[in-house]
Amino acid sequence: MQVEIITVGTELISGQTLDRHSHYLSRECFTLGIPVHYHTSVGDHPQQLFEVMKLASQRANLIFICGGLGPTEDDLSKETLAQYLQEELIQDPEVVAHLKRFFQKRSAPIPINNFKQSYVFKNGIVFHNEHGTAPGLAITKNQVTYILLPGPPRELKPMFETRVRPFLLEKLSTEAKIVIRNYSFFDIGESRLAEVLNDLIRESKNPLLATYALEVGVILRATAFAKTEAEAESLFASIEDEIFKRTGNYCYSTENESLEQVVFRLLSKQNLSVAFAESCTGGLLSHLLTTVPGSSAVLKGGIVCYTDEVKASLVQVPHDLLKRYGAVSFQTAKALAENTRAQLNADFAVSTTGVAGPSSAEGKPVGLVWIGLAEKGKTTKVYRLDLNGSRERIQLVAAKYALFILQQRLKKGELLK
Ligand code: ATP
Ligand code: MG
Repeated sequence: MQVEIITVGTELISGQTLDRHSHYLSRECFTLGIPVHYHTSVGDHPQQLFEVMKLASQRANLIFICGGLGPTEDDLSKETLAQYLQEELIQDPEVVAHLKRFFQKRSAPIPINNFKQSYVFKNGIVFHNEHGTAPGLAITKNQVTYILLPGPPRELKPMFETRVRPFLLEKLSTEAKIVIRNYSFFDIGESRLAEVLNDLIRESKNPLLATYALEVGVILRATAFAKTEAEAESLFASIEDEIFKRTGNYCYSTENESLEQVVFRLLSKQNLSVAFAESCTGGLLSHLLTTVPGSSAVLKGGIVCYTDEVKASLVQVPHDLLKRYGAVSFQTAKALAENTRAQLNADFAVSTTGVAGPSSAEGKPVGLVWIGLAEKGKTTKVYRLDLNGSRERIQLVAAKYALFILQQRLKKGELLK
């Protein structure tokens, strides 16, 4: 199958908006085992769009056309394709009903222009748009399938997930199932991970392996093509030992969880609690854990002890210690974690203290962060990080690191039980 993605919008070719849809759809197609061959961007210009469609239909048999389904005069993707294919557009009563409901909810009459969006291909199919007014459309002619998707990312992505992917899966084969497993990594860069797994990734066919960098962390996505779920499981099992052998403890989840979700799951399973003492992360660590529903069962609380005064008064870090070693130090991180654990009566406490920047502090460099991990009845461990990037990035990586360290400790605890 030859695949082409056409993105439509003058804002894309004039440098105003970065084309994210080609990136997103290519990645999704890759994991379905249908690599994309061409990306084309074109302005809101019907003649040029017509030419681009003509060229694409000569060299591809699956063509995505993104954007230009809006209500305004310059949104012409559907009309241009109808003209190129010589296919009729008819009004779809279900889309009209959806438009009515959509605007009723907003207590507004349907703008006349929006009725344009209720026209669909007579010989095509319609993908319902849960987050907007323009439905997605698909039509096949002369062995070429065209899929039209709305431009706004918050409409395109859910439509792909819930409507288009199942449509493609059915189209691709009736036999093979596609099962995806995401291996989430932290504390190892994408290039390092790809290097360590180089031969596995290069030679991978089933499961097909690919790495993706996240904002923080990396995903190794494995796509298995199998007749049953059980067969897919055994395909994953055939590579997992080797992946884990080479990547050690860097993999924190195979279930598409965030670090905070893993920490929550491990704490609640073992009926354990945690508390935080945060300096350089300013409450971010507590915030991350509280994004997980039910976190009150495991999080005792957090102290944002930003100044030396509060580190001393609320967390009882001795003044001498602060004076001698500074707030950003092994000793302070250790005292913060130990005292917070005791004071909040938690099984674990994690502390963060560091220099988030942009200027250095206490003569210490930007990006230096100490993380303390105290556990009831165990020796406290303190970790040193040397991070780089913006202030926000240093704070985020420090908070994620703290969760990473905690989940590693919790997993060790599980193994000992
Ligand atoms: P509408 O006109 O109703 O918003 P539409 O289907 O015509 O919908 P566009 O007008 O093309 O879509 O785009 C709507 C929004 O989505 C714009 O803000 C646009 O910048 C953004 N957008 C469109 N295409 C892309 C793309 N390829 N990558 C990232 N953003 C995009
Ligand atoms: Mg538009």
